[in-house]
Amino acid sequence: MNSYAPPVQRLVTELSKLPGIGNRTAQRLAFYILRASAEDAAALAEAIREVKEKIGLCEVCFNLTDEPRCRICQDARRDHGLICVVEEPSDVIPMERTHEYSGVYHVLGGALSPIDGVDPEDLKISELLTRVVSPEGIPPAGADGQAGSEGRPAVREVVLATNPTTTGEATALHIAEKLRALSPQITVTRLASGLPVGSDLEYADEVTLGKAFAGRRSL
Ligand SMILES: [Zn+2]
Repeated sequence: MNSYAPPVQRLVTELSKLPGIGNRTAQRLAFYILRASAEDAAALAEAIREVKEKIGLCEVCFNLTDEPRCRICQDARRDHGLICVVEEPSDVIPMERTHEYSGVYHVLGGALSPIDGVDPEDLKISELLTRVVSPEGIPPAGADGQAGSEGRPAVREVVLATNPTTTGEATALHIAEKLRALSPQITVTRLASGLPVGSDLEYADEVTLGKAFAGRRSL
């Protein structure tokens, strides 16, 4: 396999870094790209470059966005008193697909895993706590940046929708404890079981996830 010209080998190496792509598949993709038109290949390269340049994290919820604030946080029809906490931006999509949820999100950027060196300060946990106790600290979208207590309703409920894995459960418990200590009047719930244990939210079908959401329980 080292008989490829260096540019081809470089493409194979880069493609094989993608999740779920082994060396064999990387080679197949590389040859597909080589056969593709110059326009298609350039469009792929440009799409990758653009997504890295233009997509950042929402200043409120840390979801992916090409604006300072994501579309969900900007949406006045959403319930800003209800926050669903997820591990990754990719977890927002299946939650949205359930059509069970009309609140807003908070994306942690991972799950607690001391063995892998992921501690509370590596996740957006303190940002969540700040958001919960002082929603007025976040100026309403489109305003002149003035913070005002009329800007956001008080947070009533936090739904912990971290993955039903060891690290996801540990993260949910840690956050539940912090929230209880910080503001006992806030309801903290966890998605109901029915989700396959040990798997990622990303892979749950929308019916299962919708039911799990509807049956969330207090923590
Ligand atoms: Zn947002």
